[in-house]
Amino acid sequence: MKRVAIVGFRGMVGSVLVERMVAERDFDHCEPVFFSTSQTGAKAPAIGRDVAPVAGAGDVDTLAKFDVIISCQGGDYTTEMHPALRRAGFKGVWIDAASTLRMNDAAVIILDPVNRSLIDDAIHRGVRDFVGGNCTVSLMLMAIHGLYQKGWVEWVSTMTYQAASGAGAKNMRELVAQMRFIGQSAAPVLDDPARGILELDRAVGQALASEKLPKDEFGFPLAASLLAYIDKPVEAGQSREEWKGHVESNKILGLRGADEIPVDGICVRIGAMRCHSQGLTIKLKKDVPLDELDATIAESNPWARVVKNEKPATLAELTPAAISGTLEVPIGRLRKLKMGPTYLGGFTVGDQLLWGAAEPLRRMLRIVLEQ
Ligand code: NAP
Repeated sequence: MKRVAIVGFRGMVGSVLVERMVAERDFDHCEPVFFSTSQTGAKAPAIGRDVAPVAGAGDVDTLAKFDVIISCQGGDYTTEMHPALRRAGFKGVWIDAASTLRMNDAAVIILDPVNRSLIDDAIHRGVRDFVGGNCTVSLMLMAIHGLYQKGWVEWVSTMTYQAASGAGAKNMRELVAQMRFIGQSAAPVLDDPARGILELDRAVGQALASEKLPKDEFGFPLAASLLAYIDKPVEAGQSREEWKGHVESNKILGLRGADEIPVDGICVRIGAMRCHSQGLTIKLKKDVPLDELDATIAESNPWARVVKNEKPATLAELTPAAISGTLEVPIGRLRKLKMGPTYLGGFTVGDQLLWGAAEPLRRMLRIVLEQ
């Protein structure tokens, strides 16, 4: 049985990964050991069988002996440990959630319902680095890769509404702490129906401006507000999160040079807890009837689902609250836009911790274990 090191199991992605691996009985097919940079010697997470205590994630010699290392620890860890491990003779498969290695020629971005043939070809060629894609990119492709497969997509503009959990466990706690601070600050006004609405508005405004609002992680209020910049600047006014849309979607689809399909938009952090949403404008190469577009999306993979473009269905089924914790990737609000019959509008929601992070890693592990 292959020995699998799981690094970063305490984080947001790592926790969801372990939860999914238990649900899918992946641990029946491997010998797992859990690694942490801060909890060496602690009890390993409960996975329904005995496992060794948590090992130190900085121990190159120990890790180098594993058949597979899955890292959900983050980019700094990958930057330091991946080259060190390869230098130390680690010949196994490295499966990673961080973006560090994604655009390396020697690495494949994994999203097997979309690019299984690329993955199989890479394994055949001896590739050993497999990296999960950016969460919004993976979710966008899970929703509309059927349209790409038909050759109908000329370009995509994606306007994102990304949840706090996309930034990690500490940021999720901070969002809730901000909500509590605002709620407590506004409670005296809220609880007294005689007080005017402008008083309530002022109380919330003062809470958002207060020095006491917890904001060590985001740096600014996210609750009752939003942040229209994610990650660092790159070129031409784009943020790195926005840059990933084009480069990663094309790499996942195996499109290069003149075949690349432009993807661009604005990435925005909102006060949702979990699940990223995106408003899409898809420029089609030809006027495809809406029912044909719906059917193509619905048939593209078992998780993409078309939600009727009606208010009750949209409000009930196309929200982070409805989708959180599920593998479904619904897309709704599908309609031809005023710009013309080749402009398709849509709105999609997906749990970025599942298809956007943990699920492609888990499924890649199963592909490796079944070799
Ligand atoms: P995270 O929640 O911040 O966890 C990363 C590490 O932080 C943990 O493994 C843990 O390491 C440490 N940590 C410190 N304080 C913690 C606390 N209070 N609770 C839990 N862990 C704590 O990061 P993440 O969101 O899982 O992201 C991991 C990687 O996946 C990143 O490279 C990220 O870019 C990528 N990714 C994330 C998402 C997402 O939606 N979050 C999606 C796609 C890709 P020790 O045990 O060593 O202390």
